[in-house]
Order: sequence, then C-alpha cells, then structure tokens
Amino acid sequence: MSSSLKYFVGNWKMFGIPSSIKILDKINSYFLKDKKNNKKYKILIAPPLTLIQDFSKKYRNKKILISAQNCFYKDKFGSYTGSVSPYMIKNVGVKYIIIGHSENRAQGETNKIIKEKVLLSLKNNFTVLLCIGENINEKNKKLTSKVLNSQLRNVLKKNYNFKKIIIAYEPVWSIGSGKTPTNNELTKTILSIRKFLKNSLKTKEHIKILYGGSVDKKSINYFKSIKHLDGFLIGGASKSSKNFIDIIKNFYK
Ligand code: PEP
Repeated sequence: MSSSLKYFVGNWKMFGIPSSIKILDKINSYFLKDKKNNKKYKILIAPPLTLIQDFSKKYRNKKILISAQNCFYKDKFGSYTGSVSPYMIKNVGVKYIIIGHSENRAQGETNKIIKEKVLLSLKNNFTVLLCIGENINEKNKKLTSKVLNSQLRNVLKKNYNFKKIIIAYEPVWSIGSGKTPTNNELTKTILSIRKFLKNSLKTKEHIKILYGGSVDKKSINYFKSIKHLDGFLIGGASKSSKNFIDIIKNFYK
C-alpha cells in the first residue's frame, strides 16, 4: 500500500537563474490556497547549485522544500576543483538530495560512487532520493527487476535508516521521451522493488517509492490510477509553475 502523503518533486536539472524564484513563489501561493488537499502532499524543488543557497534561505520557513540534485562523493573540503560536498550543501540549509540520476549515471557515475554519495548524504542527515531505472535494452531483454535489484543491492545497506531514503524509479527510456510504462509494467516493477527492499534489505517500514519519467499535466491522469506509488519526480514539467501546479490539480481532481 502506498502511504497517503504524496511527494511532488521538481528536478530543474540545468535550468534557472535568480529570477526563477518566481516559479517557486507561484507554486507556494498555490499550495497555501489549496486548503482542501495541501495536507496530503509535500512539494520539493531541486534547483541547480548556483541557486540553492538563496532559494533555501528564502524558503526556510515555507512549505516548499529545497533539494540538491547531486553532490560530490567526498565530504567536507578537499582539492576537487568544481565539486561540492554533502557537508557544504547541508551548511546552506538543504535537507534533501537526489542521488544516482540516470543523467549522472550516463556521465560515468557508477554504483560504487553512488554508494559513497548516499553514505555521506545520510551521514550529513539528508533525506536521499535515490534514482534507479533500466534502459531500453534492459527493458526489452526483460531485465528490469534484475537491474533495479542490483542498483539497490550495490548502493544500500541493511543498517541504513530507511526513513531517510526515498526511491525514485525512473525508467531511462521514459525520461523526457513522452513514453510511459503500462499500468501492468509499472505496478509489477513497484511491487518487485518493495519485495526486494523487504526480503533482501530487511526493511520493516514503508519505503516511499516515487515514479519519474514524462510526468506532466496530461499523463498524471493516468499515473494517478497506479496504486503503490508515493509520488512523482518531475523533470521538464517542473520548470513552469503552471505545468507543475496543473499536475497537482489534476492529481487531486
Ligand atoms: C527526470 O529527469 O528526472 C525526469 C523525470 O524528467 P522528465 O519528467 O522530463 O521525463
């Protein structure tokens, strides 16, 4: 069973300048007005690192939560030009972090690196949104569950605090493509992830599982019928306040 509190997470990727704060302001105004439903969901926005300090300061006491999109795999400070550690991100007031996005995996981020990032993020008290997903070849070869289990097995440890881990299932072939898994495929995959978490990682609590991949104001009408999901990771449609708000509106319609 999915928990009743839903997550709508916007991943801005390489998008945004300081004035883009107006997107958050509009989403925040909508949230405050949505008295009928706003206790049923949380909104997280992951802006790029250039904006994260400013946005997290402005939104410190507001309902929208700010997430980082990634971090370096070493902590504190060091001679790593261009890199930012989990410790540095924590110190600008951010409490959530996306790790293992397929776009980062495609640039060479391995499960070994992702494992380090998750470990350090948990040490710094972040809630981690761990992205997992199969590519189109793996899907066609019916390897989806095998790939996802290996991404989970190689990154997570049994003794982790699973209250601080959210899984984002994002089929790589669905990201930005307009293609979505069928109800049957998605339900089967979510249940298989839950089974792996319970049987192999011995988790006792309900672990939140989000879906990501071509979620927009139209496809949400389909996705909302899928049971066992705790929310959505939204890329393209999170860069416009209207599109993002319409996703929430249509979800609760
Ligand atoms: C993503 O990149 O995490 C994502 C889900 O993208 P989109 O919504 O654009 O498919």
